[in-house]
Amino acid sequence: MFRSPSMTREQQLSGSRKPLTPLEIYNRLERSNCGRCLLPSCLAFAAAVVAGTKKPSDCPFLSPSAVAEISQALQPRFSSPVQEQDGSLDQLQEKLATIDLSTVAPRIGGTYANGLLTINSLGKDFHVDQRGRMTSRCHIIPWVRMPLLSYVINPTHQQPTGNWISFRELEGGLDWQGLFHSRCENPLRKLADANPGLLSDLVELFNARSEDLFAADIALVLHPLPHIPLLIAYQAPEDDLESKLTILFDRCCATNLPIKSIFTLCSGLVRMFARIARQHG
Ligand code: SF4
Repeated sequence: MFRSPSMTREQQLSGSRKPLTPLEIYNRLERSNCGRCLLPSCLAFAAAVVAGTKKPSDCPFLSPSAVAEISQALQPRFSSPVQEQDGSLDQLQEKLATIDLSTVAPRIGGTYANGLLTINSLGKDFHVDQRGRMTSRCHIIPWVRMPLLSYVINPTHQQPTGNWISFRELEGGLDWQGLFHSRCENPLRKLADANPGLLSDLVELFNARSEDLFAADIALVLHPLPHIPLLIAYQAPEDDLESKLTILFDRCCATNLPIKSIFTLCSGLVRMFARIARQHG
């Protein structure tokens, strides 16, 4: 298997590896800058593969085994963020036990009563007790549980600013950008293409807000957590032009939640939207 030379024994055993760099991919390419991948150079192609905007197979000179090797090397480090986070549930609950929930509640956009902190996620209330146990009238899904606990114990907290930034501008976003594009933005774009009314329906289903955005056919703001506003801007396909979909984040997200939790929330949302689209035909 293709391994980063700087990967430690511990990282190999734990499956947590250093990000695959464009240079590592570049070294496996023809390096002829022929342009068959529609990019001006092999280095640009390598960077695009890491960013998730090109697939290794888009270079016709890479052998199937090299394509498989690079694809595999790109996948495992993020193979299951939820699973990766599950190991730290005990730690999150331990930290939460040391926090005064009644003091934290107003700062993070929640409420506190009868020993329970209540946090709204996409229009649904979730209640957290002092031991980090969560209850709700609806089903508690794993991709909400972990980010919600991370959000509560986060020592610094910023109110929403109204300034939108891209995923790559969030702290650590650059490392996760390729996966974010391939698991969140791209599948959601295809979903919106195939289900033209879907994004509008989400406004009502998840307590979202429509925004008027220049150059977007539809833009909506969702709150997977009270102070984690994200903006989905979609432009439908037109003539020969492909559709475009971008997910932006209020600048406060960079302070209020680790990048891994933000990714977990977004990929969970997209999977849930896909299920909704399937169920409603
Ligand atoms: S097609 Fe392959 S060899 Fe040609 S420029 Fe792109 S990456 Fe380089």
